[in-house]
Amino acid sequence: MNTIISVKDLKKNYGNFEAVKGISFEVYEGEIFGLLGPNGAGKSTTLEIIETLRDKSSGEVIVNGFNLDKQPGEIKKIIGVQLQTSGFYPGLSLVELINLFSGLYNEPVDAMELLQRVNLVDKAKNKFKDMSGGQKQRFSIATTLINKPKIIFLDEPTTGLDPQARRNLWDLIVDIRSKGTTVILTTHYMDEAEQLCDRIAIMDEGRIIKLDSPDKMIDELVASGFERTKQVKAANLEDVFIHLTGKDLREE
Ligand code: ADP
Ligand code: MG
Repeated sequence: MNTIISVKDLKKNYGNFEAVKGISFEVYEGEIFGLLGPNGAGKSTTLEIIETLRDKSSGEVIVNGFNLDKQPGEIKKIIGVQLQTSGFYPGLSLVELINLFSGLYNEPVDAMELLQRVNLVDKAKNKFKDMSGGQKQRFSIATTLINKPKIIFLDEPTTGLDPQARRNLWDLIVDIRSKGTTVILTTHYMDEAEQLCDRIAIMDEGRIIKLDSPDKMIDELVASGFERTKQVKAANLEDVFIHLTGKDLREE
């Protein structure tokens, strides 16, 4: 396993408040790494520091061999960050937006090829504002790929999406990883983390309280004698919903 991100004793204070209290972890090249935790745990702060978008208070961050303190510019070149979709000009078409980003990054890009990767070729001439929530998220993930990054950061990419759109996004994320890109994401959906992530770190109140593969964490809990109070059925309501409404691309 090659380490592509190394974080050591990272701390972030907002005034007197310690949002991140000395966390250490590594992300391996080519994995999907999940950062989980309740609201306010410090997930976004941690990501934004690694993304060079927010100053840390102390600690060491190395990304692809580049030290955050010395070579933030080099880090920027090899990462893709998903921006809030509210930042996209609503009246521009998808192709126009990609060309705009391409110009900003000074990185020539084949807009149609990029849209192909996220299954939005049919929408190329549509305005951003006229797309569904799932399509907007897929498009914003496409924009993270413009500079052909080694690592992409996705902060709650599936929050607010319906079950089909969420599954579409999982497929897309798996596809991006299969082409060699390391993915770090945050999510509040445990089924998503279990399905998607090779390893997860669970954060609470500024600390990492557990870091392992979902499988190992579950086995460990079971081995400790934990039992669910209710007998679990062989399917859940989400299975019923997907079964009834189909798991294909509903929005296209
Ligand atoms: P998460 O993404 O896990 O929900 P955040 O990293 O956004 O958590 O926030 C961690 C804590 O830091 C929260 O208590 C939040 O209110 C606080 N916080 C985040 N940004 C700021 C800021 N710019 N100024 C002051 N406090 C902040
Ligand atoms: Mg957050």
